[in-house]
Amino acid sequence: MKRKLFLLYGGKSAEHEVSIRTAMSVIQAVDFNKYEVLPVYITEEGKWIKSSPLLGPVESVKQLEMKGREGEHSLIKVGSDLFDVAGPAEGDGEEEANHIIFPLLHGPNGEDGTVQGLLEVLNLPYVGNGVLASAVGMDKVLMKNLFQQAGLKQVRYVHFLRKEWEKDEEGCYGKTEKEIGYPCFVKPANLGSSVGINKCKNREDLVKAFHEAFQYDRKIIVEQGLKAREIEIGLLGNEEPECSVAGEIVPKKEFYDYQAKYEDGDTALIIPADLPEETYETIKAMAIKAFKALDCSGLARADFFVTDDLEVYINEINTMPGFTPVSMYPLLWKHSGLSYEQLVERLIQLGLERYREKQ
Ligand code: ATP
Ligand code: MG
Ligand code: MG
Ligand code: MG
Repeated sequence: MKRKLFLLYGGKSAEHEVSIRTAMSVIQAVDFNKYEVLPVYITEEGKWIKSSPLLGPVESVKQLEMKGREGEHSLIKVGSDLFDVAGPAEGDGEEEANHIIFPLLHGPNGEDGTVQGLLEVLNLPYVGNGVLASAVGMDKVLMKNLFQQAGLKQVRYVHFLRKEWEKDEEGCYGKTEKEIGYPCFVKPANLGSSVGINKCKNREDLVKAFHEAFQYDRKIIVEQGLKAREIEIGLLGNEEPECSVAGEIVPKKEFYDYQAKYEDGDTALIIPADLPEETYETIKAMAIKAFKALDCSGLARADFFVTDDLEVYINEINTMPGFTPVSMYPLLWKHSGLSYEQLVERLIQLGLERYREKQ
């Protein structure tokens, strides 16, 4: 019998569209001989729409052609519901689960442990990081606090809550200038894809950036801006993760913002990154330390800054990194010998392994 594979995508998040692109790619990479694929679209309002052809606001989604997969295409039209499989536990847990959920969700309400919590409560196996890693990985302040504790080198940072900013704007700007200085980066604490992030060179920029970041979150983080190369590395595995080769991002603009990530397409990704062996080893060791500090499982992409004098700083971990075939994470694995299709399959197996170990 084919295993049911539920693909959750869309989501109540500013990264909704990115998730749809991911779903479009993953669905074409799944082995339809092995899985019955059931897409579940989560609207921007948070409504779950059960199995159907891929849905979503991106026009191209509606025109999705399943090239060479005419037969299989009808499979994803077969309706079913995530909750149908969540009924009473099957057998005594010895039995192999014949379903798995793949949350292809980025950002809050998906990459942040909320959906993972729902799946845990329903006792459903799922792909990727668990509740804790997802939640901490989505909160840049808590993530950096844990990195700090693990002794990982990173830039200076401060954070503010909307309430304290509303009460004392001047105080918040003053503290930022005193403790961080310019240039600095202002970010919503919980988001991704560079949404709501601004680089600030002076007070005027800072005021604008605070206003923008607070539109996305009740908590923001301000970081010291580094002049450095951007290096990313992929992690794959559960308790003993493996590292991919490293990749470098060379944005053609001020920084790697949303447009550069998804719209311009002229950001260069250099894989493998041209780094001294020693620096690559340092990055790998830091990436594994960070993965373990957050208690990650399945996958993660760790982002680093490398300065001219080869100092390595960790920027962040993404627990559900961009996942289209042209995204950094799958490309890093491709260069490490794992195709996109193999990567999808490996992630499913890792999710099942973790589920089995927990039973
Ligand atoms: P994603 O999850 O898509 O990787 P994100 O929204 O979590 O992105 P960051 O990776 O923290 O955001 O930052 C986005 C980009 O902004 C970085 O790739 C880099 O170009 C720039 N940037 C962020 N923080 C700094 C910093 N402290 N110094 C220099 N550049 C920075
Ligand atoms: Mg991120
Ligand atoms: Mg992200
Ligand atoms: Mg990043």
